[in-house]
Amino acid sequence: MNRTEHPMRAKRQFFVRVPRGADLVEYLTALAARKRIRCGAVSVIGATHVATIGTFDQRRLAYVKKTFRGEMEIVSCTGNVSVKDGKPFLHLHAVLGDTKLRCYGGHLFPGSKVFSAEAHIVELSGARVREPDPETGLSLWRR
Ligand code: ZN
Repeated sequence: MNRTEHPMRAKRQFFVRVPRGADLVEYLTALAARKRIRCGAVSVIGATHVATIGTFDQRRLAYVKKTFRGEMEIVSCTGNVSVKDGKPFLHLHAVLGDTKLRCYGGHLFPGSKVFSAEAHIVELSGARVREPDPETGLSLWRR
């Protein structure tokens, strides 16, 4: 059986107000490091001042990015915490909505700063470790 299919237990949960102006990815990465979270599920709602999202071009094996400046709603943001190079690593995807309620979604990059945000992190037992995957060019969970 694939090791990642083993069941995990929920441990601590954090329900966090992310401060205005904070870089969402960096803030949650620092929180995970402070609380020694090695594995977890993340969800966030809120709004951003600036946000960069993107998709992974599967032919070129590179991200295509777009930056949104000005107010955007974080309609939904989900992801996880795992370990990369011995440190907590946040992987987040976000759906952002503009003032006309149009939505855009993708992988959320560092540099995305919040107007305000509320995050829920569920720590899970065990750890997920990322390692380079030559086939995809991504850093994926060890099997
Ligand atoms: Zn992603």
